[in-house]
Amino acid sequence: MSTDYRQMWADMGLDLEAHDALLGVLGQGYGDIYMAQKNRPEGMAYFDFVMSEVHGLRIQELLDEKKAGRKIIGSYCVFVPEEIALAANATLVGLCSGADFAMEEVEKLLPRNTCALIKSAFGFKLGKVCPYLESADMIVGENTCDGKKKAYESLGSLIENLYVMDLPQVKSAQGRELLKAEYIRFKEAVENLTGVTITAESLSAAIETVNAKRKAMHRLALLRKADPAPISGLDALLANQVFFYDNPARFTASVNKICDEVEQRIAAQEGVFAGKTPRILISGCPQAVPNWKLPMIVEGSGAVIVGEESCVGERGTRNLTDNSGKTIDEMIEALVDRYFQVDCAIFTPNKERIDHIKEMAKLYKADGVIHYGLQFCQPYLMEAIPVEKALEDIGLPCLRIETDYSMEDMGQLKTRVEAFIEQIS
Ligand code: SF4
Ligand code: SF4
Repeated sequence: MSTDYRQMWADMGLDLEAHDALLGVLGQGYGDIYMAQKNRPEGMAYFDFVMSEVHGLRIQELLDEKKAGRKIIGSYCVFVPEEIALAANATLVGLCSGADFAMEEVEKLLPRNTCALIKSAFGFKLGKVCPYLESADMIVGENTCDGKKKAYESLGSLIENLYVMDLPQVKSAQGRELLKAEYIRFKEAVENLTGVTITAESLSAAIETVNAKRKAMHRLALLRKADPAPISGLDALLANQVFFYDNPARFTASVNKICDEVEQRIAAQEGVFAGKTPRILISGCPQAVPNWKLPMIVEGSGAVIVGEESCVGERGTRNLTDNSGKTIDEMIEALVDRYFQVDCAIFTPNKERIDHIKEMAKLYKADGVIHYGLQFCQPYLMEAIPVEKALEDIGLPCLRIETDYSMEDMGQLKTRVEAFIEQIS
């Protein structure tokens, strides 16, 4: 980090000692992925900088925004519409929850067999280590899986500004009505928070901003069809992770710049891995910062990741919002249409997700799929079985992995991944 931010962190109420430990985990993890890669696109230097300033400059920017009267909203799920926050002059940041922290304290509030993402959200709060969480004026939880729903009941006692959004579990007409009603309720809550009334103009501009960000990510995703792979899965995941907390316009410009460079690489047949390197699609639970465990193993074992069917990936970014509406009502309808397509495993039935995995595998010419499930995540672990079956039916090998954030199973995972890569080579 270029400046000493210790006073800023202390003023935010962070536990400096615990925070140093978290920075150590982040630095070590990022150092490993940085060292593991060769011939990265030059444009990735921007993301290296953003990562190095993830608790520094970006937090300073958010605090400056707050001083200027803007509100910060933290979210744990891709169902929380950034468009509504932006339209009311607020900034939405994703709360990463990608590392174990303060687990002893966490397990006093949550059963041990809770998924690592939920535990991490609690650990970051209890350990006082997350400057995003501490700078937020409102934190949005959402009723997705049972684990999250019940956990928010306890998280509410730790976070006074927790707002819980209800979400449908079935893609029915009633489900869509519920989502619409919840987005209208969220719009009102955000307007109350900011004191800014959303107008058709501000909502349309916000939709445009978020569409541009998603369009850039989709452009990058499609370039990964090329062989040799012009960008590693680790770098693409990093861009997907930074998507959640960077300034939207700056992020879009940076991703588009990388895409320009990647297009030149493809034209020159230049890659980060040799041509015909085994190609893997990752599908399943979100991989939040600094959870780089699986891609480190895969790309360190002679394969390249060509896509992420995940909320930190294409499930979260692929669909755009129709911005042709003229009224707020029409735009809310368009937002509901867009977000109702997110095929999270909390939905039942959820055939769309299986179809999307098959589509992605074909589009990105994957030789195999690794289904990434977090231990104790019922929705994704249960869905992994029909996913594997559907892929087997089309002759595509699938490896089901169940893990957490600890490094204890690294050796065992590596052995399984290496055997899988040998099988698909
Ligand atoms: S996996 Fe489901 S619950 Fe988790 S962020 Fe994605 S949509 Fe939300
Ligand atoms: S990983 Fe699974 S259990 Fe954990 S929050 Fe997401 S859907 Fe829920």
